[in-house]
Amino acid sequence: MAKLIDGKAIAAAVRAEVAEETAALKKQGITPGLAVILVGDDPASRIYVNNKKKACEGAGLYSEEITLPANVSEEELLKTVEELNRRPDIHGILCQLPLPKPLSDRTVIAAIAPEKDVDAFHATNVGHIMIGDHTFLPCTPAGVMELLARSGVEVEGKQCVVVGRSNIVGKPMAMLLLGQNGTVTVCHSRTKNLKEICRTADILVAAVGKAKLITGDMVKPGAAVIDVGMNRDENGKLCGDVDFESVEPVAGYITPVPGGVGPMTIAMLLKNTMTAVKMQHKLI
Ligand code: NDP
Repeated sequence: MAKLIDGKAIAAAVRAEVAEETAALKKQGITPGLAVILVGDDPASRIYVNNKKKACEGAGLYSEEITLPANVSEEELLKTVEELNRRPDIHGILCQLPLPKPLSDRTVIAAIAPEKDVDAFHATNVGHIMIGDHTFLPCTPAGVMELLARSGVEVEGKQCVVVGRSNIVGKPMAMLLLGQNGTVTVCHSRTKNLKEICRTADILVAAVGKAKLITGDMVKPGAAVIDVGMNRDENGKLCGDVDFESVEPVAGYITPVPGGVGPMTIAMLLKNTMTAVKMQHKLI
């Protein structure tokens, strides 16, 4: 039976640490500020933005939401980003993705000042992760690393398999595991023998977006299995990429969905905002 990695509890601990640091900064007259840009009215994006706002407020940060209509021009959107880049009371900026068409995610990410890019999606920050001198880490993979560390799962020398190679999860996930001296294999939709490769993993991270893709027969006994996926099953219930029922008896550690990686993403966003404010005030 696997040890359950409780993302809710670990995220609460991270948020509490941020709240403590925020209180200390406020005593010095500094209030960390995060601006979240929401374009259009996609219901999922709205929920994510509300959750981010709530978490900010819970930790004592100032949060500002900028809502723009789905048909906003690129020029107008970039102007908004530029204004936020210049504001000293805003330390972190994120634009909720994906943007409605024809707006380009890449163009907007490129416009955010790298020192305020708390999602760590800007090419400058991605480059820093590649060469190992990062300031910000992308929130979801950073959340996974935090879950592993706080659960006592060592990465060094371990076989790590990441399923998924997106720019926001799979690729940076692989870099972070590599950065901690894991031996990393990255799988994707063209990978042959997925099952055999997954079975080599001491640490298996699933970031695919396919409900219950990873089954018990794909997991090495005792492995740490981290489920990034957020999908709906046939009954509309939230589920991950890992078939919890068949994997849990085989794995050594497992994250549930919900209550695993999900809460960590927002907690790491707060942590990045804290890093941003300290950097901008030359406190680190
Ligand atoms: P993307 O769709 O951008 O990437 C999915 C990746 O999975 C691609 O690299 C794709 O390969 C690969 N893939 C697809 N099918 C298979 C398959 N059958 N076997 C092996 N690999 C496959 O998704 P994201 O990375 O953005 O997100 C992944 C999941 O994580 C989603 O469920 C998303 O909702 C969730 N998520 C959760 C977050 C959280 O906070 N918990 C945050 C962000 C995402 P290829 O490149 O070849 O197409």
